[in-house]
Amino acid sequence: MKNFKKVAIALASVTTMGLPGWASAEGLVGISMPTKSSARWIDDGNNMVKQFESAGYKTDLQYADDDIPNQLSQIENMITKGVNVLVIAAIDGTTLSNALANAKAADIKVIAYDRLIRDTPDIDYYATFDNFKVGVEQATTLVDGLKANFPDVKPWNVELFGGSPDDNNAFFFYDGAMSVIQPLIDDGSVVVPSGQMGMDKVGTLRWDPATAQARMDNILSANYTDKHVNGVLSPYDGLSIGILSSLKGVGYGSGDLKMPVVTGQDAEIQSVKSILAGEQYSTVFKDTRELAKVTVGMVNAMLEGKEPEVNDTKTYNNGVKVVPSYLLQPVPVTKDNVKQILIESGYYTEDQLK
Ligand code: BGC
Repeated sequence: MKNFKKVAIALASVTTMGLPGWASAEGLVGISMPTKSSARWIDDGNNMVKQFESAGYKTDLQYADDDIPNQLSQIENMITKGVNVLVIAAIDGTTLSNALANAKAADIKVIAYDRLIRDTPDIDYYATFDNFKVGVEQATTLVDGLKANFPDVKPWNVELFGGSPDDNNAFFFYDGAMSVIQPLIDDGSVVVPSGQMGMDKVGTLRWDPATAQARMDNILSANYTDKHVNGVLSPYDGLSIGILSSLKGVGYGSGDLKMPVVTGQDAEIQSVKSILAGEQYSTVFKDTRELAKVTVGMVNAMLEGKEPEVNDTKTYNNGVKVVPSYLLQPVPVTKDNVKQILIESGYYTEDQLK
């Protein structure tokens, strides 16, 4: 009887942990994505489903419409369904602690995908990009653009936008960007006429383009009756679209009024087109195919009882613990390298960008 029990336990652990090679076929992966309103998350979801399924997993992919209770209930459902792993890009990185405690109790592995999940011990790994570097790249292209497009202007008038304050990444982007911009403010080459600085003033809840557009409208009418804006730090292509429409609304980009240098992130099709058309200046490409690959690799390793590969064990303290992370490299994109970075890599076809 004793031996039967041992065999049963061994079999049970083979089914849950799996074996190298065919183990993956056993796994069901719950993929919880924040929203379909931005193309990048659609790509993330599709890339993961494709790669998980070709590794033999089953997937349950859900989008939460940027609604926190919705994401919570989708995750709870996945737990009830008996997924082996949860891959989560959180809407609000601080609201999942209870759900993840339930996941932990059910022996479900959890990967924070792109966005860190905060205030919980119950996540295993974090797959993301070097988020500080994203901000550095954004600000570096901003300064390059200011030098190229406004060589005779001193000081440059620049306005700052941040991402959603409930997304840990937003702080990394902003801090990375300010590591480049602050020294220029200190030496007088950049000024921020609105005076709005710091994530508490420049954050954009839920990364909402309309909020960014409205804030840009206000900044322009309150501070720019007698001067021109030369640059806008935008942390995400969606916000850049809102900012650009506000700028166009008061005549920038036509006649003598040059379009300011506007940055972005995610290399979304509409924004790449805008870059090619000479409106948005830059974006930051984050290859979601690579992020999916890292995530699948982590899941494979965990389910085989191995340690996934990580390359950062210091940066991402979630308030409870430092989460072992794999950071991919972001790539800055301007008109000059769209072809090389986005088309030659097969991310987009030339036709998609027409
Ligand atoms: C992601 C960015 C994205 C933003 C808005 C962030 O967490 O890292 O790539 O632009 O969310 O969706």
